[in-house]
Amino acid sequence: MGTWGTWLLPQAPVHVLYAIVMDFELSAEQQMLKDLCRDFARKEIAPYADEWFDAEYFPVEIFRKMADLNLMGLLIPEEYGGTNAGTMAMVVALEELGKVDQSIATTLQAHLTIGSLPFLHFGTKEQKHKWLAPLARGERLGAFGLTEPQAGSDAANIQTTAYLDGDSWVVNGTKCFITNAGTPLSYGLVALTTSGKTDDGKKRYSAIIIPKGTPGYTIGKPYKKIGWHTVDTREQVFDNVRVPRENLLGQEGGGFRAFLKTLECGRISVATLGLSLAEACLEMSVKYALERKTFGKPLASHQAIQFKLADMATQAEMAKLMVYRAAWLRDQGRPFATEAAMAKLASSEIAVKTAEEAVQIHGGYGYTREFPVSRFYLDSKILTIGEGTSEVQRMVIARQLGC
Ligand SMILES: Cc1cc2nc3c(=O)[nH]c(=O)nc-3n(C[C@H](O)[C@H](O)[C@H](O)COP(=O)(O)OP(=O)(O)OC[C@H]3O[C@@H](n4cnc5c(N)ncnc54)[C@H](O)[C@@H]3O)c2cc1C
Repeated sequence: MGTWGTWLLPQAPVHVLYAIVMDFELSAEQQMLKDLCRDFARKEIAPYADEWFDAEYFPVEIFRKMADLNLMGLLIPEEYGGTNAGTMAMVVALEELGKVDQSIATTLQAHLTIGSLPFLHFGTKEQKHKWLAPLARGERLGAFGLTEPQAGSDAANIQTTAYLDGDSWVVNGTKCFITNAGTPLSYGLVALTTSGKTDDGKKRYSAIIIPKGTPGYTIGKPYKKIGWHTVDTREQVFDNVRVPRENLLGQEGGGFRAFLKTLECGRISVATLGLSLAEACLEMSVKYALERKTFGKPLASHQAIQFKLADMATQAEMAKLMVYRAAWLRDQGRPFATEAAMAKLASSEIAVKTAEEAVQIHGGYGYTREFPVSRFYLDSKILTIGEGTSEVQRMVIARQLGC
């Protein structure tokens, strides 16, 4: 992919027609990372992906290998154990992994963004060395605890409480659907809590680091899910969990803003899952349509199938442009939150549509677990739900429009 266009800087006076070039050409390092991830996915993941999915097995060994390949700290500076490779690098890495196994790519994306970035953006130097560096080195997996049984889209409605008692925070409540907190590599999670009220009666929110093994902290059984079978997703219960005062991440009262900010980059990584899923479905469908014959000729000779494939290819390209642009903006240090929400919205809905068409093209075989296309179909729906539903993305975008 080369240079696709120029964008006027929004702050530039109209008469100053200076522009910056939006360049999606991968650097040599990004290309090497992409090749590395593609080879790794094909050799180490593809042969086992369906077996792991059907067994609902979390392949911890794969994440240890990814740690050896320095893939676990792509957004984290070297000083804290990462490679500081950048957002575009993360996107190309996740794209290659996601084309082969959505669950593995999901576990990695949750770790790289929502699992690690709260420490980078809001942690003290000591917290970064203590909690972030093991995440970036891949010794631990990161988890982000926002959702509760009564509060998903309506995140401000969380009920988990934290109060200071001497030198400890005492946490009570329940988080649901939490990814990456129950694996052998998990350290615990960062939980959003309510930590009191402002003078005018509004809730104050604080992010608290809760390590695994703390008395009163119970991790539930993995949920039975439609897809993402090898993603570890569990309930987390806090019953008078006591952690040291220094486990407050960021400012007391600043937790909500911190969690929302973290989700902005998470949307780029989830959008990449959608992109990779659409690309995988397209690739499998083209291959199948060229091989499978009906009425004496390959499926790919029927115009109705050709049109489906053409639409799938066009939609995948749309997703790619939007995801790459959001990643590029973030790497430029420019505002990217709206573009990330748009990319997540578009790419996840494209993924669902493309997966459905891919199964249709595969006919009855596509409905069996004999063909991996069925796994991608099962993995597609969550993309319009997790890390902010399609409706929530529309709310974020509409807010930017002044609604
Ligand atoms: C596999 C999986 C992994 C997850 N991992 C994590 C994780 O690691 N950490 C974490 O904190 N959470 C996680 N989640 C939770 C996820 O982010 C939430 O499920 C999601 O945000 C939606 O919240 P909800 O399920 O409570 O749905 P609800 O908020 O109850 O929404 C139900 C439906 O109503 C719609 N809706 C709600 N309000 C409005 C409105 N005002 N206008 C229009 N439509 C509306 C929603 O879009 C949705 O379609 C995960 C979920 C799953 C399934």
